[in-house]
Amino acid sequence: MARRARGPGGARLLSISIDVDPVPCYYRIHGLGPAPDELRDVVMRRCVPRFAELFARRGLPATFFLVGEDLDIGALGGRARAARALCADLVAAGHELGNHSHTHPYELARLPADVVAREIAACDAALREVARRPTAGFRAPGYDLSPAMLAELARLGYAYDSSVFPAPGYYAAKAAVMAALATAGRPSGAVMTDPRHLLAPADPYRPSMTSPWRRGQAPVVELPIAVTPWTRAWAIGTSLLLAPPWLRTRVVAAMAGRRFFNLELHGIDLCDADLDGIPGELVARQPDLRRPLAAKLAALDAVLDQALATFEPVLLRDAAAWVHRELA
Ligand SMILES: [Zn+2]
Repeated sequence: MARRARGPGGARLLSISIDVDPVPCYYRIHGLGPAPDELRDVVMRRCVPRFAELFARRGLPATFFLVGEDLDIGALGGRARAARALCADLVAAGHELGNHSHTHPYELARLPADVVAREIAACDAALREVARRPTAGFRAPGYDLSPAMLAELARLGYAYDSSVFPAPGYYAAKAAVMAALATAGRPSGAVMTDPRHLLAPADPYRPSMTSPWRRGQAPVVELPIAVTPWTRAWAIGTSLLLAPPWLRTRVVAAMAGRRFFNLELHGIDLCDADLDGIPGELVARQPDLRRPLAAKLAALDAVLDQALATFEPVLLRDAAAWVHRELA
């Protein structure tokens, strides 16, 4: 039945989301120790407005997953006030704010349930103050969704989670990098994701409350991050913006085999190391920081041109509403 194979009106749906991870997250991943304090809000201040401009120019809606602490005036003072004003502007422009935990602990899936609940609830409270509407969705740090997170999302009445990333090749690459850092005596602050996620469905599904990588009866639907049909190549923005054009074009073309394209980007994807004052120690470890902003913007425009020929852009919360109707 065509209606079941496609989104509303027969369209296929593209949701663009941006994880606004602050620079200290990258210092942790690369085992670099504490980040300089002045870099705390550089992704929010410099990169988020670039995404907002691009989306305004193209008339696209997007979902910004925010770390609650970046909006915490008690912790960050004027920087949090500026972040709140910027995020309120995103809401006014029709974008969605999503919950990306309060402090972005990579080990969130391994923390006690009460800590998990506090991490999610604190970010939720900050987002409500800024957006003045309930938050619909969550993305776990490090793609690692746990039953405790799902329980808290259900308690808060969230419509969806979007953390599951069933891309075996990505995990293999992450494991190799983490092993290399450990060997170099500079252990990564990243945490290996529960490998059961690799077997999760790649299309939206209703997860099990106790094993979120399996189908079940949770009130929250899962919107997995994009992987291509068959080979499950990862189709995330950071990789697409770095890939040579022939590969990028092939990955996006393969996504046309799916009815839903959940395109995940990171705030730092639109960072310009020179213009934004990113220290050499981080640039040396992160290849995307060595590409000029103009090249990354051109690549993102090319990805969007190609995807929008097939897919209709919607917020993740609207995609979730469609999935809820489909799975009812
Ligand atoms: Zn993140």
